[in-house]
Amino acid sequence: MSTALDPQRTIAELEELRGFSADVHGAQRIAFTPMWVKVREWLTSKLAALPVETHVDAAGNLWSTLKGRSEKAVLIGGHMDSVPNGGWLDGCLNVLAGLEVLRRIAAQYDGVPPVTVRLVDWADEEGARFGKSLFGSSACSGHLDMNEARALVDRDGIGLPEALKRVGIDFEKVRDSRRELANAVAYLELHIEQGPVLLDLDLPLGVVLGTFGVERHAITFHGQAAHSGSTPMNRRRDAFLAAARMSPEIYEIAKRHGGVCTIGSCTTKPGIVTSVVEECRITLDQRHLDASALARLHADAKAASERFAREGNVELAWERLWSIEPVLFDPQLKRFCREAIEETCGTVHELPSGPLHDAAEVARAGVPTVMMFVQSLHGISHNKIEDTKREHLALCVTAFDKLAEKTIRAHA
Ligand SMILES: [Zn+2]
Repeated sequence: MSTALDPQRTIAELEELRGFSADVHGAQRIAFTPMWVKVREWLTSKLAALPVETHVDAAGNLWSTLKGRSEKAVLIGGHMDSVPNGGWLDGCLNVLAGLEVLRRIAAQYDGVPPVTVRLVDWADEEGARFGKSLFGSSACSGHLDMNEARALVDRDGIGLPEALKRVGIDFEKVRDSRRELANAVAYLELHIEQGPVLLDLDLPLGVVLGTFGVERHAITFHGQAAHSGSTPMNRRRDAFLAAARMSPEIYEIAKRHGGVCTIGSCTTKPGIVTSVVEECRITLDQRHLDASALARLHADAKAASERFAREGNVELAWERLWSIEPVLFDPQLKRFCREAIEETCGTVHELPSGPLHDAAEVARAGVPTVMMFVQSLHGISHNKIEDTKREHLALCVTAFDKLAEKTIRAHA
């Protein structure tokens, strides 16, 4: 067996996977479905050629362990599941690159590396079926809200606990998955960027600094319905006007503090052509890598809404829908990641991740974590047109392998 890393094999395996798990609309590797089970069987058969122990944990995550001289474990992770009509790289590039890295390590160290190395395929990262992402990794980190998860149902009315039972998982025990992190000293995740930053810089690879914190709120302005013909402009209590003024304002706020702000939805009542809007509800999603800057984004939006409500003589109510703190990755691992990219392709860029990833859950569980991004063509993901240049795929496997080796040596 050759001891050399073979990035072309990863590309061939990605093509092989696409060959049986995608249709004309894109990838169909939706978690807990028969196709997902088939994809897992395919992955397990690849792992069987290695001197590893493979098992599924209490939350349905697949772990493959190459025992080293030390119990200390370096984890490499990704997710084989996809959204419906998804891309061919999201999640599975990480796992298949990890598989190739595991092969190289097993060969180079005659099956016994200085530290234990484990590959994990997280269950249901996308949350496509039940609308809740990061299922397996949040069960493992201990952050899964059991009451909320117990009540989730899919489009066909099947509850999450029932769907899990069908693939042999006992919902009430999923947080036992936590024990898998017992000896973890590092967690490494490679991922396609899913955005246009590296593409615009014409760079193949980047170090991910962390994942954005998120503040997600519904803002409701309440005025008075009134006849659109008989109510003079100066007598109106127009809820829509107050809400609409928030739209240009969030661009100013983001310009001031950085980060991103999105008004993603707007509903009006009574919502008819002949009435001034009585009630207007908008949703606001704000994200930033820095916790204090995120707090300023939120505070400025709140102050602006209060001003517009006062000026428009309408009432105002805020409701928090969801929030999460920013997650910053480990300084030493970020340095290894930077070095690995520099050695592979010369130039390195550091960027935050807008989307959440399993890596954020592992980091929140206290395991030192880092992610590496590879450029996305078109800057598009969760779509069948998702793609990355073949030469960039090869580079990312090479750089990710160097990151793994540096991490192993630091803990040897
Ligand atoms: Zn992903």
